[in-house]
Amino acid sequence: MKKLSITILCIVMIFGACFAQNNKKAKYIFLFVGDGMGISHVALTEAYLADRAGKTGSEYLSFSKFPYTGFVTTYSASSFTTCSSASGTAFSTGYKTINHMLSIAPDSVTKLKSVSYKLKEKGFKIGISSNVGVNHATPAVFYANNISRTAYYEIGLQLWQSGFDFFGGGSFIQDKGKNKNLQSLEDITKNNGYAITRGIKEINEISAKTEKVVAFFNANNEVQNLPYAINRKKGEAKLSDIVEAEIKFLKAREDKGFFIMAEGGIIDWCAHDNDAAGTVKEVIDLSEAVQVAVDFYSKYPDETLIIVTADHETGGITLARTGGGKQGFASLDGQKGSVGVLDKEKGRAICDSINNAAGVGFSTKGHTGIVVPVYAIGAGAELFTGKFDNTDIPRKIMKAAGFEF
Ligand SMILES: [Zn+2]
Repeated sequence: MKKLSITILCIVMIFGACFAQNNKKAKYIFLFVGDGMGISHVALTEAYLADRAGKTGSEYLSFSKFPYTGFVTTYSASSFTTCSSASGTAFSTGYKTINHMLSIAPDSVTKLKSVSYKLKEKGFKIGISSNVGVNHATPAVFYANNISRTAYYEIGLQLWQSGFDFFGGGSFIQDKGKNKNLQSLEDITKNNGYAITRGIKEINEISAKTEKVVAFFNANNEVQNLPYAINRKKGEAKLSDIVEAEIKFLKAREDKGFFIMAEGGIIDWCAHDNDAAGTVKEVIDLSEAVQVAVDFYSKYPDETLIIVTADHETGGITLARTGGGKQGFASLDGQKGSVGVLDKEKGRAICDSINNAAGVGFSTKGHTGIVVPVYAIGAGAELFTGKFDNTDIPRKIMKAAGFEF
C-alpha cells in the first residue's frame, strides 16, 4: 500500500512538473536594449522623477520594479570595454567578437547565427526595432553579418534577406550607399516583398494581407533616427509608438509566438555627449516603451517574457555631490534641447552647468566596461538573476522558450 502511494505521488509530481513547465514557456518574448544604459543612468532617472515629484529618493521605472534582476558582463573578444556591435553580437548570437564586428566570429569569416533566426525556425514571428536607423549596430546584429558595423549599405541589403516580419525605426542609414550612387535600399527592400510605411498612421492602417513590413517612424529621410526625446515636437513618434505597432502587427499574424527586440538607441548618444538632461529623457522613453510590453504581459502573463538590459555603459555617470546641499535633479528640466541643438558656442557650457547643478558627473565621453543591469518579468524570468555574461542572454532566451540553444 505504502509502495503504491509513493508511486502515485511520484506520477503526480512528474505530471505536475511537466504541466508547470509547459505552462511557463515563453511564447511572447521581448528583449529591450537601452544602448549605453548603465545602472547609474537608471538611478539618475529614478532620482530625477522623485525630485520632480517633490521627494528626495527614487521613483520606479516600468522595468526597475521587475521581480528578477541581475548584472551582465559586457567585455568583448578584443577589449574589456565593448562597442555596441560586439556586445550586440554576444547577446544576439551567444558568442563574443572583436569590437566593430557584427555577428561575425573573431576569425573574420565565420557567420554567427542570431537568436532571432533560431526562433524564426521554431515558427516565431520576428520584430526588430529601434529609435535609430534600422541598419544601425544593435538592430543589425539580429539580422546581418559583417566584419564592419559601418558597412551600412551591405548590412541594409541583408534586411529583406532575413525574412523577418517587422522592422521598425528610423530609415536606412546610407540608403544609396556611402557615395549615394547605388540603388536605394528602400526600393530593393520593397522589390523583395516588404511593404514600407512611414509614420504612425500608415503602419496602423496597414492591410491585414501585408505579411512583412519595414515601418519608418522618422519624419523623412534627412535624419535617419527618430528625434531625441528632449527635442521632440508634438506628434513626432517615439519608441513606445514603434513597440505598440509592432505588437499589434505581430500578434495578428502569429500562432506559435513572437520575438521582439526593441532598442532605445539614443541613450548612448546623449551619454557620449555628457548630456544628463537628454539621457534622462531617453531612459524615460525606454521605460514608456517597456510599459507597452508590460500592458501586453498583463493579458498573457503565463506566456510572456520581458527582458530589459543594456549593451554597455556610456559616459561613466556618477551621482555625486560635494558638500551637503540638496542635489537638484529636477534642474535638468532647465535644459531646453540636447547639447547638440543648444546654442553652438554656449551649449556645452549650459549643459555642463546644468549637469553640475544636478550633481551628475561624467568620467568619459566613451563607453565603460562596468557590468550593466538586467531586469526580467514573466515566463522564464527567474533565469535572468545573479551575475552572468552577455553571451548567456540568447541561451537563456531559448531555454525560457523551451528550446535547445
Ligand atoms: Zn556608444
